[in-house]
Amino acid sequence: MHDLAVVGLGALGTHVALAAARKGLDVVGLDSGTGDHEHSATGGRTRIFRLAYTFGTDYVPALQRSLTFWNNLSSRYPETRFETGALMIGDPTDPEIAKAVTAAQSCNLPHELLDASAMSTRWPMHHLVPGDIALYDPAGSLLIPPAITARVRADAEALGATLRFHSPITAIKESSRGSTITLSNGEELRSRQIVVTAGAWSGRFVPEFTNAVELRRAILHWFSTPNDFEYGPTQFPVGLRRTGNVRYSFFPQVDANGIKVNLHSPKQVVPHPEMREVNLPSDFDELVGGLKRTLTGLGRRTASAAYVESYTPDYRILLGRAANTKNRWLLAGGSGQAFKLAPALAEHLVELIQGEMPSLSLDGVIRSPGTPAVEAVRGP
Ligand SMILES: Cc1cc2nc3c(=O)[nH]c(=O)nc-3n(C[C@H](O)[C@H](O)[C@H](O)COP(=O)(O)OP(=O)(O)OC[C@H]3O[C@@H](n4cnc5c(N)ncnc54)[C@H](O)[C@@H]3O)c2cc1C
Repeated sequence: MHDLAVVGLGALGTHVALAAARKGLDVVGLDSGTGDHEHSATGGRTRIFRLAYTFGTDYVPALQRSLTFWNNLSSRYPETRFETGALMIGDPTDPEIAKAVTAAQSCNLPHELLDASAMSTRWPMHHLVPGDIALYDPAGSLLIPPAITARVRADAEALGATLRFHSPITAIKESSRGSTITLSNGEELRSRQIVVTAGAWSGRFVPEFTNAVELRRAILHWFSTPNDFEYGPTQFPVGLRRTGNVRYSFFPQVDANGIKVNLHSPKQVVPHPEMREVNLPSDFDELVGGLKRTLTGLGRRTASAAYVESYTPDYRILLGRAANTKNRWLLAGGSGQAFKLAPALAEHLVELIQGEMPSLSLDGVIRSPGTPAVEAVRGP
């Protein structure tokens, strides 16, 4: 009998396995694929970390806790992160820019506010229109999911976790003394507690999840740049642009495809996570025009790719005991923001499972009590 079984080893499941192994639990993790495959929400090569966050001050403690983890990991494994800093550029009255500025100022985070003249010296490729501001968050960074996943897995295994890939789970049966997990090959495992971190597939094991989230497909695009150096991760911060209707996030160039941008037009809602076709929106040319006017020097589009993620209505992550269960927990509904927060979320969940008072409040980050898929558990 294991202490904890983790169902799904994407970003969240991998961090839960490590956090549980650190507590000395006998943990087994299972994934139907490789754990960071292109169909999962953890697919792709890069993610953004920011401390002066556009979701506001509630997130700052969890982000700071996660930053401690990222600092420690990248000091041991430099390939896991580039310390690029982050830029939030745009209209100061835009709610996301305003929240980031408020988070930086009210939480006393190191930051700089730059005007058009200062930006033209430091990052001339970003063109500010009159009235735009730029907030620079030096704690921002570019996280590298494949490198991170590999190192977090290895750390979990070094602490005794058993992680199994290409091992789809078909059923979980609960009893008062634990649960029985059935794999597709008929094998059965027993565990006292189960964590479902199966991303967009979590509804198979927590039926209420299906009504608690929407599966949305984000389409990312890569554009060529005039040179790898100025647009590369040693010079070019990650960031977000919000100037009128021109809205996108940007990532430095890490390969021959050039820089990556996420053009923020409404994401398509899809019925299942395997829907990775790239459908360009009807206003695509207009969106690219806005991009190229504000981020200069970009050349042709070199690639596009689609990823599916589960979103809750208020973007808060689902973390807690699964509704109507005794020993089944849910951590899912990443809402496009869970990668950067994964260390803090996993630590919090393992504390709850252990019956401990969580060392950090995640109010405002995880869904409020009464949500259909999870029951609120705040400690003993
Ligand atoms: C395009 C995109 C951009 C993003 N950008 C950012 C960003 O910049 N910063 C940020 O912080 N966050 C970002 N996010 C969010 C973040 O990447 C996700 O929230 C996070 O990776 C979700 O991970 P997960 O572990 O919940 O799910 P997943 O990675 O989807 O993992 C679920 C796993 O469960 C497994 N599984 C499914 N069914 C079974 C089964 N029956 N048995 C066993 N295993 C099973 C799957 O194989 C999969 O590996 C982004 C997300 C997307 C899609």
